[in-house]
Amino acid sequence: MTDPTAQRLQTDIVISGGGVAGLVAAAAFGSAGFRVLCVDPTPPVTEEGAAGADMRTTAFLHPSRTVLERAGLWARLAPHAAPLQVMRIIDAGGDTPVARLTRDFDAADLSDEPFGWNFPNWLLRREMVARLAELPLVDFRPGVATTGLVTRDSGAEVTLSDGTRITAKLVIGADGRNSFVREAAGIAVKTTRYGQKALVCAVTHDLPHENVSTEVHRSGGPFTLVPLPDRDGVPSSAIVWMERGPEAERLAELPPAEFEAAMTERSTGVLGPLTLVTRRALWPMITQIACRFSAQRVALIAEAAHVIPPIGAQGLNMSLADLRCLLDLAEKDPGHLGEAAMLNTYHRRRWPEVKAREVGIDLLNRASMLEPRPLRDLRAGALGALYALKPVRKTLMKAGLGVR
Ligand SMILES: Cc1cc2nc3c(=O)[nH]c(=O)nc-3n(C[C@H](O)[C@H](O)[C@H](O)COP(=O)(O)OP(=O)(O)OC[C@H]3O[C@@H](n4cnc5c(N)ncnc54)[C@H](O)[C@@H]3O)c2cc1C
Repeated sequence: MTDPTAQRLQTDIVISGGGVAGLVAAAAFGSAGFRVLCVDPTPPVTEEGAAGADMRTTAFLHPSRTVLERAGLWARLAPHAAPLQVMRIIDAGGDTPVARLTRDFDAADLSDEPFGWNFPNWLLRREMVARLAELPLVDFRPGVATTGLVTRDSGAEVTLSDGTRITAKLVIGADGRNSFVREAAGIAVKTTRYGQKALVCAVTHDLPHENVSTEVHRSGGPFTLVPLPDRDGVPSSAIVWMERGPEAERLAELPPAEFEAAMTERSTGVLGPLTLVTRRALWPMITQIACRFSAQRVALIAEAAHVIPPIGAQGLNMSLADLRCLLDLAEKDPGHLGEAAMLNTYHRRRWPEVKAREVGIDLLNRASMLEPRPLRDLRAGALGALYALKPVRKTLMKAGLGVR
């Protein structure tokens, strides 16, 4: 039975999910003049040391910056950015874990701007929540989940866990890999499991990173060091260490001194001895893509639509490309927000692009996981050959950034 005391609201857009993608979407649509309600059952954790803090970092690649600018976020974030000038790839697939092939992809080959900028996720949440508080058109409700969705041609009716019912022209599913909105809209997903986990933490080191992001390939998956701003005057980097599940779990439980020794060896010592300065967190690795990115009055963005392993900083950058596409369509024709033609165009523009990236990242991940020595030798040979051809090198860099 319907509760007669429950609130009934009307808005332009309901965003289900206030992870990094949902928060940027709320800021972007709110800045563009749309009325937005954004909900998330888990209130954002905005301090590094607090329980439940997201220990990952996000490298925003160049094209994402314009989206952050449109959302009024870039000016807040810029002072905390660690620029990424060079992407270094090391192959350490020989008998011992030493660098046997090193190749640098330098952003200077493309423009005088860096490839992107890296930020801790807890800091992103802090700045994004502060931005939403400035926007009169955005109603952000942490601690509340989306629990019901009924759609019609004329609009969507959303029910929240606090009993509120809202009608909206558009519902954006930004509620992560197990998206409620995706399921309620009846959209299926295709999932590939790798039996792999990513271990993430932050470290300090004696040698400066000089804005170089380094990916070391041996077996089990890539080991990546991404630049962070100095920590109390000491150079610092984020670690993303992908390994087969049991090995990642063993590493996560090692006493700190043994873990530091293992990390330093796996990094080929490229930045000197590594010192652990945060807790370690594990993330299961999957590739997942929704069969459609839209349904009646519904658009899926970010991990609700696609999940890929964290290689080449693609995940959230693809999510901001989803957002840019949806925002462009909405701004161009606000009178038809959330109608079938708009959402079909969104699906048609984004799905093939995401699928192509998913295939590419899946291949790179499988190549990095290789155990047999001859195949690892082949991998090193392919990297050397591709790198040697300057036009191919530039094309790869542009493809990685998502620019043409
Ligand atoms: C180790 C690692 C490193 C990464 N590094 C990078 C990188 O450098 N660059 C990059 O671009 N990407 C990176 N990624 C990917 C990036 O972190 C993700 O794409 C991004 O965090 C996902 O954001 P999201 O908002 O879609 O999902 P989530 O962060 O999972 O947010 C979903 C939110 O929805 C909420 N929710 C769930 N159910 C409901 C409901 N019923 N109602 C309302 N809300 C709900 C959840 O509480 C959650 O807060 C990395 C990923 C990993 C695992």
